[in-house]
Amino acid sequence: MISDDHRFFERPFLEYLPADLTAILTELELPKFRLQQIRRWIFARKITSFNEMTDLSKETRQILTKQFGSVLQGKELTHYRSDDSTEKLLIEWADGERVECVLLRDNRNHRTACISTQVGCAMGCAFCASGMDGFVRNLSRGEILEQFLRLNSLLPNHERLTHVVVMGIGEPLLNLDALLSVLDEITASDGLDLSVRRVTISTVGIPSGIRKLAESVVQNGKGYKLAISLHAPNDELRTRIIPQNRFSGIDEILKASDNYFEQTGRRVTFEYTLIAGLNDQPEHVRQLVCLLKNRMAIVNIIPLNPVLGLNFQTPSAKTVSWFAGQLESMGIQVKVRFRKGDKIEAACGQLRRVHQTNPTITN
Ligand code: SAH
Repeated sequence: MISDDHRFFERPFLEYLPADLTAILTELELPKFRLQQIRRWIFARKITSFNEMTDLSKETRQILTKQFGSVLQGKELTHYRSDDSTEKLLIEWADGERVECVLLRDNRNHRTACISTQVGCAMGCAFCASGMDGFVRNLSRGEILEQFLRLNSLLPNHERLTHVVVMGIGEPLLNLDALLSVLDEITASDGLDLSVRRVTISTVGIPSGIRKLAESVVQNGKGYKLAISLHAPNDELRTRIIPQNRFSGIDEILKASDNYFEQTGRRVTFEYTLIAGLNDQPEHVRQLVCLLKNRMAIVNIIPLNPVLGLNFQTPSAKTVSWFAGQLESMGIQVKVRFRKGDKIEAACGQLRRVHQTNPTITN
């Protein structure tokens, strides 16, 4: 008999780990292999309504719907598509909080999901929209996983996500357990089946979190790519740009990053948002080279995407290529990240803010 006592099933479907779902199916007197069928519908066929899972009996579909409602728990508030085919969703959760996630396409057939891990952000980086209104809460496992499912279903049926960047709103290493449980799902062969090598976690640089991530990589063999937001080559300037820096300092971050490389064999990327007149001078090149020349590092230069209300400027294209060229000429591997989705406020946290200040905006 199915119990009418819902206490055991009060969480939405995606919040449960597969092992918990197996136990719940047993409680519901459903065979365990149903979970495989349900997962195939959700991950491979992009179906998130139990009623549409047509190889389940009508009764099973009703039982699942009664227990979990739908697979998804959020509401899509807006869906933007920019001229360069970047798509961005603003999702509202049950408590009214909102986050954004982005689908990026390129001409190498990469289909990249950029996802958020927190509502707001406590790091307070001076140029970033995500932290402007502070930190609200961590996203749950289900809320993070749902972003992947929603972005994957924006793609035509024969396409699926190929890459992941954890570069949306929030500091991922401060919500690491939930994030890792989701990354386990999306890299599982019966999940979204993404290659672990194509998953990048970007952090402001929290040494204890970097070490914890390295331990988890060593334990389960999932060598995710690590990107660290450096943005400045000395502590004085870095603390001005990233207040969080006063707790750790560049030296500690580099030690943790060296440890990540030693433990996992994965080269670390250092992100460097280039801001006109602030961190784009010849002395910054020299200091950066000193920090990184003996490390197998890659520098990812991101020309600032200006945020309304913040008084920072994007450097000229000439300065960007000069800065990149200087680093390269001194033996540092450099990539310049070109901006995508400007018109749809695709930089972290911008869309969420636009909607807070102007709730009537439409797509
Ligand atoms: N919280 C994570 C992910 C942030 S988004 C982190 O701090 O790494 C990924 C990168 O984009 C980070 O390096 C972040 O500092 C940078 N970024 C955020 N807003 C930006 C903006 N408006 N212009 C350019 N880069 C930005």
